[in-house]
Amino acid sequence: MEIKVTRAETERIRPEDSDLGFGQVFTDHMFVMDYSQDKGWHNPEITPYTDFAISPAAMVFHYGQAIFEGLKAYKTAEKKIQLFRARDNFERMNRSAKGMCIPQFDVDFIMDALKKLIKIEEKWIPETIGTSLYIRPTIIATDPFLGVRASFSYKFYIILSSVGAYYAEGLNPVKIWVSKEHVRAVKGGVGEFKTAGNYAASLIASEEAKEDGYAQVLWLDAIERKYIEEVGAMNIFFVVDDEILTPNLTGSILPGITRYSVISLAKKWGMKISERKISIDEIFKAHDKGKLKEVFGSGTAAVISPVGEIRYGDKAISIGDGTPGEIAMKFYDTLTDIQYGRTRESENWIEVVE
Ligand SMILES: *Cc1c(COP(=O)(O)O)cnc(C)c1O
Repeated sequence: MEIKVTRAETERIRPEDSDLGFGQVFTDHMFVMDYSQDKGWHNPEITPYTDFAISPAAMVFHYGQAIFEGLKAYKTAEKKIQLFRARDNFERMNRSAKGMCIPQFDVDFIMDALKKLIKIEEKWIPETIGTSLYIRPTIIATDPFLGVRASFSYKFYIILSSVGAYYAEGLNPVKIWVSKEHVRAVKGGVGEFKTAGNYAASLIASEEAKEDGYAQVLWLDAIERKYIEEVGAMNIFFVVDDEILTPNLTGSILPGITRYSVISLAKKWGMKISERKISIDEIFKAHDKGKLKEVFGSGTAAVISPVGEIRYGDKAISIGDGTPGEIAMKFYDTLTDIQYGRTRESENWIEVVE
């Protein structure tokens, strides 16, 4: 399939890196492709970034048949453009597609389309430390139809957003809040897919956490309300004594690519790491015995996010001394060194956009 390219008539100027924030500044172009039953995926195009004209009856608006991904492109000191594990994101997107009855797409074709788009948008990749180009691939159901079934037509698009340094003020540990009342996802449901409805369903608990002064929600399993699952848009790790613990993937947890990267580095470094059921009580007990050394989240946006406090009901525990833990920093430094091309040992996780 040939990708048709239409360049924008006027190109905008990227704001100062310090004004970028996250997910607010979009680039001049986007990638769009359509799906119909008779043509399959067709009409791949790079077009000027613009609004879609779409029926108010489009099924995505009513029944939430939508999936997305989040990944980043980084500029190295040598001005090379690097993608971190991008194929893994598109493979996960195809798994999300399967789970939501959306047709599969060709990962190699999309990788080429993404590279082509990024090359056109090169000037939108900021270069100061910690900044990047955030990539948001999305698929939505577009049949104008009221009635619950899988759509027969879809739109696949990729938009890009120049994003500022997540840690402009250093890696300050965040405070997280365990939701007792609400659950994010249930085994047998769609928690392991990056589908829009999961995030809509999480809003009420986030609002409650924020009212209490907490940045993010820590979710427990939906059945026993006992076992730790993950944070808002991050997976979670605990360092207890000399062992790293993270919840095993049960079907209700989003399988993070940063999570896989942390696990594989820990194994490579000979650290003790276990993926298993972890109850919230176990963590609070470990803390009481002085064994809980570090807690950190992992996800594309922040890479590694140290956790400084966990609140569960009327009990709150503090972890560490208000600065990021040593192990969290080791993962953060190694992963960002790979992403920004500061090391040759990239674990085969880098694809250069040429
Ligand atoms: C995207 C996401 C993550 C992190 O995944 P990465 O691939 O590491 O960015 C974790 N949890 C949820 C709910 C997510 O949506």
